[in-house]
Amino acid sequence: MWKIEDAIDLYGIERWGSGYFSYNKNGNLIIRPTKKDAQTIDLKNVIEQLSTKKIKYPILFRFPQILEGQIKELNGAFSNSISEYKYNNTYQGAFPMKVNQRREVIEEIVKAGKKFNLGLEVGTKAELLAAMSFELGSEALLICNGFKDDEYLRLALNAVKLKNKVIIVIDEYSETTRLLELSRKLGVKPLIGIRVKLYSKGSGKWAESGGESSKFGLTTTEMLDCIRTVSEYEMLDQLQMLHFHIGSQITEIRRIQKAVKEAARVYAKIKNMHVNIKYFNIGGGLGIDYDGSKTSSDASANYTMQEYANNVVYSLKDVCDEEGAPHPIILSESGRAISAYHSLLVINIKGNKNGNHKKPIELRGDEPHIIKELYDGLQEINIKNYIEYYHDALQHREELLSLFNLGEVELEDKSKGEVLFMQICEKAAGFARETENKSDDFDDLNKLLSKKYIGNFSTFQSIPDFWAIKQLFPVVPVSRATEKPNEYGTIVDITCDSDGEIDKFVDLKDVKEILELHELNNGSYYLAILLLGAYQDTIGDYHNLFGAANEAHIIVDDSGEWHIKQLVKGDRNCDVLAYVKYNSAGLFSMFESEIAQAVRDNKLSKTDAEEILNNYKDAMNQYTYLDL
Ligand SMILES: *Cc1c(COP(=O)(O)O)cnc(C)c1O
Repeated sequence: MWKIEDAIDLYGIERWGSGYFSYNKNGNLIIRPTKKDAQTIDLKNVIEQLSTKKIKYPILFRFPQILEGQIKELNGAFSNSISEYKYNNTYQGAFPMKVNQRREVIEEIVKAGKKFNLGLEVGTKAELLAAMSFELGSEALLICNGFKDDEYLRLALNAVKLKNKVIIVIDEYSETTRLLELSRKLGVKPLIGIRVKLYSKGSGKWAESGGESSKFGLTTTEMLDCIRTVSEYEMLDQLQMLHFHIGSQITEIRRIQKAVKEAARVYAKIKNMHVNIKYFNIGGGLGIDYDGSKTSSDASANYTMQEYANNVVYSLKDVCDEEGAPHPIILSESGRAISAYHSLLVINIKGNKNGNHKKPIELRGDEPHIIKELYDGLQEINIKNYIEYYHDALQHREELLSLFNLGEVELEDKSKGEVLFMQICEKAAGFARETENKSDDFDDLNKLLSKKYIGNFSTFQSIPDFWAIKQLFPVVPVSRATEKPNEYGTIVDITCDSDGEIDKFVDLKDVKEILELHELNNGSYYLAILLLGAYQDTIGDYHNLFGAANEAHIIVDDSGEWHIKQLVKGDRNCDVLAYVKYNSAGLFSMFESEIAQAVRDNKLSKTDAEEILNNYKDAMNQYTYLDL
């Protein structure tokens, strides 16, 4: 008997869900934005309400309370480690805007982070312009990283005049004198940071962000030169932060430990040179366990948030104590860890397919012998011989293809052979399930029989990292978890690009190439793609001109009721056309004159012309996705 627990286990939802996601007894996906059972959202209910409001799919759901929850957890983890190891200073964070610049997201982060002195980290002028508009906590930092031209520096120096604490980080040696000159000219004394190049590297997909050949950071020689120059400008007091960043999603804890130790040594040495470093900024890298395996595989991390904090605090303290240097304020720029859980995309399924091989095959009697072999195979296959018969069928299919290529098989017979082969496969797969045969052979078979579920979304727009770097994201049915999923499938999107397909899924031990899904019945079938809150919002692109998805922001109140805090309309066709420089009014007037000409030429009646024009206008204002 299939139970809810089986579904929870199959999709691994409680392994990667960090307490935020599960299934309820009705088999619906639930979200607990505060991790409290009394504040649970049944996503199916939300979907039903949204459909009465005619909100079309795909819909991106945001749960702002999850952002708050993650900020609390991160600060809590560091505060635990600080008291456990008797560390003599504090922790504070700065949210890196490149991870998710969306206004609603940053607003929520700034609001929830105020009491923790959570700041913002920016890497470009546009991010800085946005960040300058927020009021941060009194000790919070606005950290300026990235390549900086004079305009960027000027903006940052202006911010220094207005804000409590702005730190301009020298990411590249050549920025040193430009920064110092401009500061002198504008009469501003900014706080200054230095990003150091470490030998230590991260692990996982972003390992190359660290190490000797990394894009940013100063070598030891450059750092010493930089300190001398800063001192010549009489700004040494302002040099208050040591920064490093060895890449995002660091999968192995020992890499973090190693980098912290190396950087701590640098900190202690320059502190002992009487440089007034107050902040030890460990950058990003805190990983998310996307597959729930708690391993150092790319989609996971072999440590928890608490272990991360423990390692940082302990390693830093250890080196500082050894060198007799005071404990600095610990700063992290954890972006992924704060934002990944807060959003998920719900897509509806248009249908599924894998060829038509259901019809029973009858033989005339004069088919090539190979067809007869397949036919007999299908009659005789049973639970005892299915492995052998499945292997025979594979060979027969091979043979069928060679005979066809030699011109010895007609199309009608080839079709019969292919259908018989698929029917044998289905039987074999059935027997394999019954006997719980888990050998690799049958993985291939399930893949062969798997269906392509057509999902109403664009991989490129909504899960760009899956396409770009094969980053895995969990995918689960939104409901029907009470039923055993009897199909296997991959999920193809509606772009005209064969890369637009989710064909890798999280799994405890491995990566699955097919996902257990339900048979489609007459009702709608919805899937959720989760943990999309970090990086996906702005890396997404407009391939095939599919635009931003509709959004619903959901919160849950103290009594456990959920509310739609906000609905944000996705892009319309005219919006995405504007991104590629078409003016919709211009398009319309061109179309209009074409229609007028057709009416003059008597190719079109006046009523038809009007209808066509109205239709064109309506389509311009519609959502870019399928209306199912
Ligand atoms: C990208 C980046 C981060 C964010 O890293 P996460 O792994 O998402 O926490 C932090 N700091 C710098 C300098 C970055 O470039």
